[in-house]
Amino acid sequence: MATYLSKNKKQLITDAKELICPYCNEGNFQQLHPAHLKKHGKTVNDARKEFPNSPTMTVERYNIQLGVSTSGGEGTKQKVESGEKKVVSCYYNQDLNCSHETREVPSYYPNGFLCNKCKSLGKESLDGREKEEANMKRLKTFSDKYNVLNAVFLKK
Ligand SMILES: [Zn+2]
Ligand SMILES: [Zn+2]
Repeated sequence: MATYLSKNKKQLITDAKELICPYCNEGNFQQLHPAHLKKHGKTVNDARKEFPNSPTMTVERYNIQLGVSTSGGEGTKQKVESGEKKVVSCYYNQDLNCSHETREVPSYYPNGFLCNKCKSLGKESLDGREKEEANMKRLKTFSDKYNVLNAVFLKK
């Protein structure tokens, strides 16, 4: 079994078919899911710190996640036709005030969504376009409120 760090260094990827939770030794996971870790009051970051050698994601799952960012290719077409599904969670699933809701979506969908609770708290979707829109809106609200054009200037 080989392991390596994901690009963002947050996940320890394993080439094994599945992995187990280091806290309860439950198995058959494709990834150490935040919703599962929550049962132990832990996050993926905790698991990485407390069990530095314990993988948090299989290479298979990791590749699917990477593949989604280059969607539109042949691989995506196959996934669309196969009707493959995956379970995604809110971008802010690790936040305490998130609803920790999960959704089953087609496998070519983004690997996350903004749950209604987080949306109502004003958190931004990590989708680039929406984020930009949110930034623009915030900037506009800010400049309307304080009558300044260069809101960025005042930002700490
Ligand atoms: Zn567990
Ligand atoms: Zn949320």
